[in-house]
Amino acid sequence: MIRTRFAPSPTGFLHIGGARTALFSWAFARHHGGKFVLRIEDTDVARSTPEAVQAILDGMDWLGLNHDEGPFYQMQRMDRYREVIGQMLASGLAYRCYTTPEELERMREAQRDRGEKPRYDGAWRPEAGKTLPPPPAGVPPVVRFRNPKEGVVAWDDLVKGPIEIANAELDDLVIARQDGTPTYNFCVVVDDWDMRITHVIRGDDHVNNTPRQINIFKALGAEPPRFAHLSMILGDDGQKLSKRHGAVSVMQYHEDGYLPEAVLNYLARLGWSHGDDEVFSMQQFCYWFDLGHITPSAAQFNTDKLNWLNAHYIRQAGNARLAGLVGLRLEARGVAVTDAPSLEAIVGLYKERIVNLNELADAAEVFFIDLTPDAGLLAQHLTPEARPALADFAAGLKDVAWEAPAINALIKQCIGAHGLKMPRLAMPLRILLTGQAHTPSVDAVLALFPRELALKRLSAVL
Ligand code: GLU
Repeated sequence: MIRTRFAPSPTGFLHIGGARTALFSWAFARHHGGKFVLRIEDTDVARSTPEAVQAILDGMDWLGLNHDEGPFYQMQRMDRYREVIGQMLASGLAYRCYTTPEELERMREAQRDRGEKPRYDGAWRPEAGKTLPPPPAGVPPVVRFRNPKEGVVAWDDLVKGPIEIANAELDDLVIARQDGTPTYNFCVVVDDWDMRITHVIRGDDHVNNTPRQINIFKALGAEPPRFAHLSMILGDDGQKLSKRHGAVSVMQYHEDGYLPEAVLNYLARLGWSHGDDEVFSMQQFCYWFDLGHITPSAAQFNTDKLNWLNAHYIRQAGNARLAGLVGLRLEARGVAVTDAPSLEAIVGLYKERIVNLNELADAAEVFFIDLTPDAGLLAQHLTPEARPALADFAAGLKDVAWEAPAINALIKQCIGAHGLKMPRLAMPLRILLTGQAHTPSVDAVLALFPRELALKRLSAVL
């Protein structure tokens, strides 16, 4: 049974890199019919906030990355960590170290001065035949893991390939601080062990933690999970993705009018590929997904591609769904959406030409507000030759059959009668009706309006 987990630290929003990690972990579990566990790593109490927890849950929810177990909170598992620390002390896998932080600092300075790598000198590490000094009074100890001194720790990373570190490179890791609180790398191991995680898929900023964690797993007599470290995501400009790149929070994409399926499809291709396939559903993705096709090199963000996918998924989306999503945005802008004109018909016409839901809301909004077209724009297009044609057209509009083809025939008849080219009449019509110079074909736009409203907008200048 495959078991994966997503283990964010709630110190900020769910960012794009985190969302991709979550997506890959989720898809791997789904592909194998396994379980996907959500774990909140909130032991950094100074930086973890309930708002950030909520932001992560909201982001996961919006993307539809549903978990099978959890969320588990590390802060609620402290007793369990203490229990394991107690067992490790009792069995000699860990030991109390009374070296004070000040002494440690002096030790490191001296090592640096000698050109050595700063490290703990092992003064309190029990060894066969070694007599330890008596514990100093009044110094609370830390607990250290007795890391093997010899040999190597090696794993076959499912993205990066074989990795090997000499144990001599690794210090005896502090697993409990002076105040008794367990440390990060230790909690992760106990959790992954207790939660029976088979595959750890995470960012490669954690690759340095992996050898330490594997050693603890082994000491506990547990089989370490397999590891897959994902390379980082670079911005459009090739720099490390950061706030400078604008929308790095997943919920910012929601705000900016992206559909979750577009973001998911986009993230799926960020470092993973299935031939040349670019557009696919999450069902298809879960069917295809494997760790073997993740590239070990950094992935580069491409906003144009995301926009292209978003436009695609908006065109694919049903009009009722789009009307619901756009309606919420209009409501948030304080625009009252009425039954006529039909928002569903509006989004159905405009969705072919926009890239995000905010643009769709901009297009739809003008149908529901008291519109005053920009005077300059109007003056530019409502020329003296256009006025009489417009007046004829408005008169004809009173009893034309209310559908695009009949309206189109009326437009043609008016421009013919007045010897005008199409844009001469279509442009002022567009501007009077919508305030916008760029719209879908003007007969189709007109047909969206209730007849009375269309006549009212045209009569403003007649
Ligand atoms: N909590 C860590 C983070 O948010 C992830 C740890 C892990 O996946 O092992 O970066």
